[in-house]
Amino acid sequence: MIDQKKIVEPEKVSCEVCFKEIPISEAASVKATDYILYYCGLECYDRWKKQQEQSKPEK
Ligand SMILES: [Zn+2]
Repeated sequence: MIDQKKIVEPEKVSCEVCFKEIPISEAASVKATDYILYYCGLECYDRWKKQQEQSKPEK
C-alpha cells in the first residue's frame, strides 16, 4: 500500500512591505491589476497604501 500522506508545507509568501515570510493562509492579500500583493498584516497594508499615495505619478 502506498502511503499517500504527504507533509504539505504551507505555501509561503513574503510581505510586500517588510518582506517577512508568512504562510499564505495568514497573509492579507490585495488584488492589484494583474497580480496579487501580500501583507503580513494590516499594519503593513496601511504602510503600503500610504507609500502608494505618496508615489502617485505626477501629471
Ligand atoms: Zn509586513
